[in-house]
Amino acid sequence: MAATDRARWRSAANWLNLATPCGLLLARATGCRVRSGPRGLYLALGYRLDLPDAAAFTVGNVVLWREGLDEPERCPGLIVHEERHASQYAWCLGLPFLPLYAVAAGYSWLRTGDPASRNVFERQAGLAAGGYTQRRSRPIGALLPPLRRWSRPRG
Ligand SMILES: [Zn+2]
Repeated sequence: MAATDRARWRSAANWLNLATPCGLLLARATGCRVRSGPRGLYLALGYRLDLPDAAAFTVGNVVLWREGLDEPERCPGLIVHEERHASQYAWCLGLPFLPLYAVAAGYSWLRTGDPASRNVFERQAGLAAGGYTQRRSRPIGALLPPLRRWSRPRG
């Protein structure tokens, strides 16, 4: 499938699954200025709320861009990263992306102490492009000391 076909498919999917309308409502509610971006994305500029703690984040095909950040055209790597999240919304049938992302972020936090390093969504979108530094994973066994104590044979 050509890149433009993929972008059209993603745009249609994220309209139908209502993720893009939700992103536009969020942009409107938070006072962002919305304009068209590359490959069917919308750029919502001037996001000011503290959460999420990110330079940019995506809801459907809407990329919410924090106030004070450089112009999107000067951050092509971050746009590509957010575009991959837009595709992830389409594959997750829209807003189910959010709880799935939360589970992936929680798993990553347990394994590494940060929400991105082992988060499948951030890894697929590109950690470095998203501004993340990959942290080393802790062994799974180290996460479960109570279970190890419980499973120890008793004499
Ligand atoms: Zn990301």
